[in-house]
Amino acid sequence: MPISRAVQLADKLYAIDAWMEDGPERLSCYLFDTPERVLVEVGPSATLHHLTDALDELGIDDIATFVVTHVHLDHAGGAGQLARRYPRARIGVHRSGARHLVSPERLWSSAVGVFGEEWLASTWGQMEPIAEKRLMALDEGDRVPLGGGRFLDVMHTPGHARHHIVFHDDDSGGMFVGDSVGLCYPHGHFVQPVTPPPDFDARLVVEQLHRMAQRNPKFLGFAHFGPEDRVAETLASAEARIWDWVRIVERMTNLDDKAATEELRRWSRAHYLDLGFAEEDIVKYEAKTFWPMQIAGIRRWLATRQTR
Ligand SMILES: [Zn+2]
Repeated sequence: MPISRAVQLADKLYAIDAWMEDGPERLSCYLFDTPERVLVEVGPSATLHHLTDALDELGIDDIATFVVTHVHLDHAGGAGQLARRYPRARIGVHRSGARHLVSPERLWSSAVGVFGEEWLASTWGQMEPIAEKRLMALDEGDRVPLGGGRFLDVMHTPGHARHHIVFHDDDSGGMFVGDSVGLCYPHGHFVQPVTPPPDFDARLVVEQLHRMAQRNPKFLGFAHFGPEDRVAETLASAEARIWDWVRIVERMTNLDDKAATEELRRWSRAHYLDLGFAEEDIVKYEAKTFWPMQIAGIRRWLATRQTR
């Protein structure tokens, strides 16, 4: 039986469960079914059919603009394919991420370095290039029109990735945060950092969390996964947990990457249990976390900080 993948969050705003790695509740895309339709986040190409099926179910035959918070493949991997499906759509991305959508080769090889080629090609899928003229280069203070006088405000939020952007819709109060706050799943509702190399910078991430809080959004639209309306609490725990992880990794000077990965996983599990989170929720978070990447990103940041 087909699952209804779209949930209405506010006037003309839907959250779509776009699946990922063949499971639900992994990736949320957000659709503004406004006079100028805007889709936030695309997802990897291998599972793009979940998104396009949902768009078809909603009767969406045209999109004015689709935007990605950043070009990591679990957000933008299918952008080329989606651009082909909606030939009139513009594609919004931070100005320094744009070149990776025009020529995805470098982005691909950097992702191969983290995830391995076989896993990447089969699980997230290949990227197709997008013609430069279709790109809308975005930066802090820009506005993406939704039509009828409604806009998505763009904030530049480096830290998870240098070119990360976040979109704020004043009308619904939604802030669409990509990976800049972390992961937060509807089971458990706790936030966990995402700290990939090469860009992860703990200080920058925390700076952006403060800027997001200042805007006082009504809810955070996570990419992984869904809306979270406990905004202040979620942003504060995102900050606390980043410093927790940095401190833990800093202490692991005598462990190799593999042992450090296991230690961070073990510490996090014990910490979540201490905080009273349910074991079944913790297990689900663990399964959805790429632990070696977390260690690699934090260690890289610690190393560059020391050489500065
Ligand atoms: Zn990311």
